Amino acid sequence: MEELVSLCKRRGFVFQSNEIYGGMQGLYDYGPLGVELKNNLKAAWWSSMVYDRDDVEGLDASILSKPSVLKYSGHEDTFTDPLVDCKKCKGRWRADHIKDKACPGCGSADLTKPRPFNLMFKTSVGPVDDGKSFAYLRPETAQQIFVNFKNVLDSTSKSMPFGIAQIGKAFRNEVTPRNFIFRTREFEQMELEFFVERGTDEKWHDYWVKKRLRWWCEQGIPEGRLKLFDVPKEDLSHYSKKTVDIMYSFPHGEEELEGIANRSDFDLGSHTKNQTGFEIHAKVAENKESTAKLAVQNSKDKSWEVPYVIEPSAGLDRGFLAVLNEAYKTESLDNDKERLVLSLAPHLSPIKAAIIPLKKNNEDLVALAKKIKRSLQSLRLGRVVLENSGNIGKNYRRHDEVGTPVCITVDFDSLDNNTVTIRDRDSMEQESVPIDSLENMFTNIISK
Ligand SMILES: [Zn+2]
Repeated sequence: MEELVSLCKRRGFVFQSNEIYGGMQGLYDYGPLGVELKNNLKAAWWSSMVYDRDDVEGLDASILSKPSVLKYSGHEDTFTDPLVDCKKCKGRWRADHIKDKACPGCGSADLTKPRPFNLMFKTSVGPVDDGKSFAYLRPETAQQIFVNFKNVLDSTSKSMPFGIAQIGKAFRNEVTPRNFIFRTREFEQMELEFFVERGTDEKWHDYWVKKRLRWWCEQGIPEGRLKLFDVPKEDLSHYSKKTVDIMYSFPHGEEELEGIANRSDFDLGSHTKNQTGFEIHAKVAENKESTAKLAVQNSKDKSWEVPYVIEPSAGLDRGFLAVLNEAYKTESLDNDKERLVLSLAPHLSPIKAAIIPLKKNNEDLVALAKKIKRSLQSLRLGRVVLENSGNIGKNYRRHDEVGTPVCITVDFDSLDNNTVTIRDRDSMEQESVPIDSLENMFTNIISK
């Protein structure tokens, strides 16, 4: 893990947040290359979940949430960790982290009984901070999808089954954020809520587990490094009928990368008005505040029913960590040297190609390199950079380390016979190719 963290900082993927003021625990900033990789991962998810389908629509809802939303979702009551305070060193710990009834900080046994601690962040809204007008920072993106169910249904011509996809930030006041960007207090989720008729929910749950597993493989994670974990009944969240987690062997151990939950009719049943008018199967709290009927007509008998929900919920930051960990390799070269290479799938690489003039500041070479950069950049396949520093070997090493699939060198031959040298990141093989075939070649490499 340390090597990965050090690469992230050195090459500008991830920085400690608020670092020049001493940093802030559980928060990270994504640097110039990090933001590109993150955007590419989001784009791959969005393509697979929205563009490649005809039964999913997108959403980007607000982060600030009315307390009612999180009251009926169950978060106000159940989204808690039991905490224990050490009376001696004043340390605060999660009850499940206490071993042998001793404080992990100082070893004292003078501990309080576990007390529930809500993980949601609160903030005041409006000019008067009277404690009454507050909002929560959403602890998950899902709830705003449920409360927009009717808006999306009415504004599109969707019929069941259909889904709503959202990527966005969520916030949890984790007591012990840990393992770099794996568990943080501010993070990004990629969530789909897929609404299905009761009775078809188990079939759709299986479908999404398989589909999501395949997607992670397409991001460069070999299937052998992923495992499906059937969450035992007693560990299921309050809304879940069944949950399967996709587990990945992170550097710090095997943990959840994505969870696929069968949330039954709990969510729409909790947020709908006229609850007693429907046969809701989940145990929901009585709701007298909602103004919308969150139900659809059953295709068979036309009776109104509250849809079931299948939720594939992926952590973007932990996905980022998994993809990076999988791509990170050190290779020994023939000359007894080592090279560090990030073998990212080309569609995820932060930089798609580096154009390198053989001699820095040579007017003709730089002009041609700029022309090639503009032509490849105009294909809109991602970022293409010009490296005008003259040191070819150094540039190769730098771009190996950040996962750039190809480096293109412009030399004096290029000026005479219109060819450039393409170097492949993984094989390190070099090939001379005509400039007018570059666009095609580049497109093939990046879209493979
Ligand atoms: Zn203590």
